[in-house]
Amino acid sequence: MRLEGKTALITGAGSGMGRVASVLFAQEGARVVATDIGRDGLDGTAALVGAGAGRSILALTGDVTNAADVESWVRAGVERYGRLDVLYNNAGIFPDADRSVLEMDEETYQRTLDVNLKGVMLCCKHAIPEIARSGGGSVINVASFVALVGCTVPQDAYTASKGAVLALTKSLAVQFGPQRVRVNAICPGPVLTPLLVDLFPSEEEKDKRLRRIPLGRFGLPEDIAYAALYLASDESSWTTGTEFVVDGGITVNYF
Ligand code: NAD
Repeated sequence: MRLEGKTALITGAGSGMGRVASVLFAQEGARVVATDIGRDGLDGTAALVGAGAGRSILALTGDVTNAADVESWVRAGVERYGRLDVLYNNAGIFPDADRSVLEMDEETYQRTLDVNLKGVMLCCKHAIPEIARSGGGSVINVASFVALVGCTVPQDAYTASKGAVLALTKSLAVQFGPQRVRVNAICPGPVLTPLLVDLFPSEEEKDKRLRRIPLGRFGLPEDIAYAALYLASDESSWTTGTEFVVDGGITVNYF
């Protein structure tokens, strides 16, 4: 098993990619601290992990933008499992009102930056010292392909937040490499999760995006969870500061 003996804290574990990663990590031997703002989603994840991996998880609600919540997740995880090896910063939002800067209200901008960027900062702040105490480990930050290329359908708050996640990833990789804490980002392309499906107002809008993907399909949460599994495991022990692009080829499609 690829994560035997490791404890992994996953944010946004109640839906989409965080849910699938929770099941996969548990199947690979990890003890999972699954966190999310919503209780129902977490309960669903806990049931799936029980069915898929035959083990229980520590499922904790809270908000990634709230320092006290984040601190309590890390403390509870270490109390229960004795160590922390992996932080998977997966929670993120994509509000409907996120458009061009010309149209955007400041509240939408601020909330997007708070969840997608400050949330990563707070989780790193509280988890990295514990990971270092465990002798090193892995931080995985979820950015996006929109941090790498521009888009004619603007989503400027989201894009800015994910670009900043990439920059923060590199800074943390350099700072904490000497303590054997690796910090990498994953840049998913469009993945079929509730977050993306909500975005398509029509089949035509969906097809427009599909045509840009050389591999001819949208991503599945499993496509990203397997990338995260590699980064969480010791197989990636010489990999840090990277932008791991998992996108069906969309970002290299010039025309
Ligand atoms: P999702 O909406 O299915 O799941 C996100 C989870 O995060 C939800 O369970 C939600 O409750 C939780 N969450 C939201 N705000 C929170 C908060 N303040 N505190 C704690 N939890 C919170 O989304 P997903 O598609 O699985 O996205 C996962 C990550 O991947 C996000 O960071 C997203 O930006 C990124 N991403 C998604 C796509 C895509 O196409 N789906 C593409 C690129 C990047």
